[in-house]
Amino acid sequence: MPRLVMKFGGTSVANVERIRNVALHVKREVDAGFEVAVVVSAMSGKTNELVGWCKEAAPLHDQREYDAVVASGEQVTTGLLAIALQAIGIPARSWQGWQVPIETDDAHGSARIARVGGEAIIEGFKARREVAVVAGFQGIHPGSGRLTTLGRGGSDTSAVALAAGLNADRCDIYTDVDGVYTTDPRIVPKAKRLDRVAFEEMLEMASMGAKVLQVRSVELAMVHNVRTFVRSSFDDPANPKPGTLICGEEEIVETEVVTGIAYSKDEAQITLRNVPDKPGVAAAVFSPLADANISVDMIVQNISPDGKSTDITFTVPSADYARAMDVLAKEKTTIGYPAIEGATDIAKISAIGVGMRSHAGVAAKAFRALADRGINIRAITTSEIKFSVLIDQAYTELAVRTLHSLYGLDAA
Ligand code: ADP
Ligand code: ASP
Ligand code: MG
Repeated sequence: MPRLVMKFGGTSVANVERIRNVALHVKREVDAGFEVAVVVSAMSGKTNELVGWCKEAAPLHDQREYDAVVASGEQVTTGLLAIALQAIGIPARSWQGWQVPIETDDAHGSARIARVGGEAIIEGFKARREVAVVAGFQGIHPGSGRLTTLGRGGSDTSAVALAAGLNADRCDIYTDVDGVYTTDPRIVPKAKRLDRVAFEEMLEMASMGAKVLQVRSVELAMVHNVRTFVRSSFDDPANPKPGTLICGEEEIVETEVVTGIAYSKDEAQITLRNVPDKPGVAAAVFSPLADANISVDMIVQNISPDGKSTDITFTVPSADYARAMDVLAKEKTTIGYPAIEGATDIAKISAIGVGMRSHAGVAAKAFRALADRGINIRAITTSEIKFSVLIDQAYTELAVRTLHSLYGLDAA
């Protein structure tokens, strides 16, 4: 029998009425002859609330206990969906991460999936024609037996990993938009829905802030070649649209130079002033940050006029900003910087497209267009299929719209 993994995000399971609607989507696929595993998120807003409670209890808390708290949102929705399915005559059973099991490493708060044991779920398909309703976002670390979570937005990753583990024919990610757009349709109403996006482009879009899919879910889909669609749970359950397929580049016929624009407001900028300009300084700055598991993104080092000292500017995720400042404060004498500055009111705007490989001057055009609108660029990075600029957060929407029009992405 064909096999399918369906994933429903927070807004799709926001209340019992919507969970009943999800049950209708699942019923459609069961009636079409699929063996179905459903991955659910917590009700929208729930995880934020749980994270808030942990912070309120203690700003710097034990990540193992954070996981125990924040994983609870998904437990509720699995049970509710199983009940809603049973109520319309479909055999269903809920599964928590540890029951599947979805095994992860022990990086609590942002654990990586190491293995998915799908045997018991498959047994349920075969013996009882039972739909498996699996909690997204959570797993278990086999060594300690403790519960883990996969990082915000992690249910996407649970779904793709489960699809790979169960050898499913397809993984459908249902959300509150009907596919992947050229940019966030909530801030650019002229954004266009894409029928197909290449894995590599989706990976960059997700890493650069497009929250429609968690980055690791795209990595897994690419590595295991999982046929993944992004589609809407708000479509008519009897007649839904197919959504956007994330696929290999070779499956895409027409490509623009730029496929999409992403933005992220979740970055913070740190500048170290007058750092000694000598070998080993970059290592002295970035090694302690790496040891603290803080990922550094854009790095700019000025040329020093006197050859003695220099300024180093870089960005870190804003969630790690306080920790990064703390780490650098402890290293102040080792690094030898007299002053440190930080800013959290910044945004990173990125343009992504595999077509950039074969076109020159794509980024230069953007710098001019942003300058014409009076938007100052604080830092720039480029890679083979994308470039990013760091700007003041107040200009985020204007910059995204400007680049979206500049590269001909606006819907007619
Ligand atoms: P879910 O709760 O279903 O996981 P998310 O909020 O995580 O949903 O992701 C869906 C949201 O992603 C959309 O509502 C949209 O605002 C946002 N988004 C950002 N960039 C894009 C994009 N390029 N295409 C589609 N949606 C995007
Ligand atoms: N509920 C989790 C979160 O809000 C996981 C998810 O929705 O994907 O981050
Ligand atoms: Mg999400």
